[in-house]
Amino acid sequence: MLTPQNPYYTWDHYLREKFHAKVYKVSLDAGFDCPNRDGTLAKGGCTYCDEGSRAVGINPKLSITEQLQEGMIRMKKKYSAQKFIAYFQAFTNTYAPTPILKKTYDSVFHHPDVVGLSISTRPDCVSQDTLTLLEDMAHQKEVWLELGLQTIRDDINQKLNRWHTYAQFEETLARVQKKERIKVCIHVILGLPGETFEDMHRTIDCLSKLPIHGIKLHTFHVIDNTRMAKDYKAGKFSTFQESTYRSLLCDLLEKIPSHVVIQRVTAEAHPAKLISPRWVLDKAAFLHRLKLEFLKRNSYQGYAIKRK
Ligand code: SF4
Repeated sequence: MLTPQNPYYTWDHYLREKFHAKVYKVSLDAGFDCPNRDGTLAKGGCTYCDEGSRAVGINPKLSITEQLQEGMIRMKKKYSAQKFIAYFQAFTNTYAPTPILKKTYDSVFHHPDVVGLSISTRPDCVSQDTLTLLEDMAHQKEVWLELGLQTIRDDINQKLNRWHTYAQFEETLARVQKKERIKVCIHVILGLPGETFEDMHRTIDCLSKLPIHGIKLHTFHVIDNTRMAKDYKAGKFSTFQESTYRSLLCDLLEKIPSHVVIQRVTAEAHPAKLISPRWVLDKAAFLHRLKLEFLKRNSYQGYAIKRK
């Protein structure tokens, strides 16, 4: 039960409830591309993207199975992890013909310590054949599809060089919903250049009415050697202060239904590459202050819905 002391439905909580074991995601780079990088929609990728949003520590030169092995060893040592979710994280992980996707996913799916897959992708890159494949796999193990929406404002997604629309997102989500076993998690970035507080509330208000299972939220941050970094250095926009983001996050979490798993409230970045905001590097301190804020408000995830 959510309370001000236990204010939101964490990913860790969900995994413990579901698997009764310490489960961790192992990030993988299968070498896919993105349609806004390879020239299909655009070139250069999202203006904030560095190396395909690959997690810190992935070695793309290794095969998928080697990456999985290496990640499992690392997680066992660091967190005493017992089971794993193979997380296809870098780039667009449904952006290939379905037989190639099947071969790629299968290479890690059947490992006895892998309890499921999580596949990160764009809303405009999910074919019906791929959904059928994922639904088949979801009969055997847990399957999450992570859709990068970022914001409901199409004009901002265009400026970011993403080139997918909210209508495409809704259409894909409607198709995923028909595959009852696939779980869906939506990625949202808060504080994108040009986005207002009202926009961010609208994004969460829309998502809160949709049949989703999880959300990943994080504050917009600027990574060195990206196109966004140039604009940031030229003073064209700023990033959130920690207190502003924390307060906004509480406001938004209060509107999200309590059954939606909050997979992330802050993102990780390579300290040597992160330009701003630097406070995201101290994740533990941020999470602690977030808890204190909920205690001060005497609220929790879904509190605003309950009060209506
Ligand atoms: S779609 Fe994702 S991986 Fe591809 S360029 Fe954009 S942020 Fe990077």
